[in-house]
Amino acid sequence: MQANQVKMEDIVSLCKRRGFVFQSSEIYGGLAGFYDYGPLGVELVNNLKKLWWQTMVGEHDNIFGLDGAIIQNPLLWEASGHIAGFTDPMVEDLVTHKRYRADHLAGVDSTDLSELTKLLKDQRSPEGNPISPPRYFNMMMKTWLGAIEGDVATAYLRPETAGAIFTNFINVKETMRAKIPFGIAQIGKAFRNEISPRDFIFRVRELEQMEMQYFINPKAQEQTYQAWREFAWNFLVNKVGIQEKNLSWHEHSEQERAHYAKAAHDIYFNFPQGPKELWGTHNRTDYDLANHSRLSGKDLTYFDEINGEKYLPYVIESSVGVGRMLLAVLVDSYSVENINSESRTVLKLKPVIAPYKVAVSPLLKNKPELVTFAQKIYQQLKQKFVMVMWDDNGNIGKRYRRQDEIGTPFCITIDFESLDNQSVTVRHRDTTKQERVPADKLVDILNKELKK
Ligand code: ATP
Repeated sequence: MQANQVKMEDIVSLCKRRGFVFQSSEIYGGLAGFYDYGPLGVELVNNLKKLWWQTMVGEHDNIFGLDGAIIQNPLLWEASGHIAGFTDPMVEDLVTHKRYRADHLAGVDSTDLSELTKLLKDQRSPEGNPISPPRYFNMMMKTWLGAIEGDVATAYLRPETAGAIFTNFINVKETMRAKIPFGIAQIGKAFRNEISPRDFIFRVRELEQMEMQYFINPKAQEQTYQAWREFAWNFLVNKVGIQEKNLSWHEHSEQERAHYAKAAHDIYFNFPQGPKELWGTHNRTDYDLANHSRLSGKDLTYFDEINGEKYLPYVIESSVGVGRMLLAVLVDSYSVENINSESRTVLKLKPVIAPYKVAVSPLLKNKPELVTFAQKIYQQLKQKFVMVMWDDNGNIGKRYRRQDEIGTPFCITIDFESLDNQSVTVRHRDTTKQERVPADKLVDILNKELKK
């Protein structure tokens, strides 16, 4: 698969221009690896999270939600292996002291230091300077609790949301009377001190994850693993609306797999910088529960009353970044078209994730009778749909172009004919076709269209 034809700079520019994503603390020059979501971005983020939660938790009787603390007892991260092993290989430019991911520089999916040392023997940094030999760099972000700084009070911002899910395994099982197989799902921020954050919001230091850990009988690992791989693919294609041609599978080699995983398959999305990981499915085996059991001294085994079996459950993990999904959605839906020899940029978002579902406009904003009618329609639609925009800025062509760029599926215009026969025009984003419909049928029509 080749890199996507859509250019990253076009996406970055659209995000800034239309209020999807801003660089964090921009007026101070920004901070590498941190971004703020603007008015449009936060709607898109919330819609993606809602869709995932509804599908994951709402549609499965045996998946339960959790919202764990970002900071946990540091022993949790010792047991999970993150303090010792959550590392990426790094090299340093010996002149500028800038640091780079060794595997990225070598162009391989391996974290093996001896292999990377060989590959990078005569390599120079992107600035053309000599580089240090590769070494591991731990990506855990540290903080301190209480008034003392130092090892005694050191704590970590979580590098993945999964930690609290494992430590709450017994709590959720007991409070929900859950029987294996069951899952725990969580959406939340995670922090990684990435060596070189890059590619806009693709690789950041503060990220948000949507994760689900599914606890199973070890005998069911193969089929459950396959089922959650399929779930991820189907969710992206059928629920989010990403085109299948932009997706592919990537199986992790042994050198590439995280320290906790026995098997890992990523769904790659065809990003502008090339096909890269969007969503990971991992077989974490009993790695986490075994280590937490050992370090906490608590018995985390499960007793299956029906079969009389006692075992430590295996875990199949489904994990995807919210920001990466948002970037994939923007790249996938972005298109520039020529219509009647005029160029327009349009985000062909599935209505369910579009930040605004409908925009309402009076044809002319200086005609009070049009504005009054349009306001009536606007107020009525606002009760029914989230979100609806009032747009009376510029001429109607400009309004359509603005709404196309933010992916609003429908624009409603109130004109002079509306006053005569109580009708409005509905303009469809993807086809640019307009139809005149009776105002009192509008809610029903939009309801039907927005479900597509
Ligand atoms: P990568 O190989 O790209 O560093 P990873 O294999 O470390 O990612 P996981 O630990 O499996 O990623 O995390 C699960 C998901 O979280 C990823 O599929 C991705 O969508 C998201 N994610 C991970 N790291 C980042 C990051 N630095 N910035 C944005 N999203 C991220």
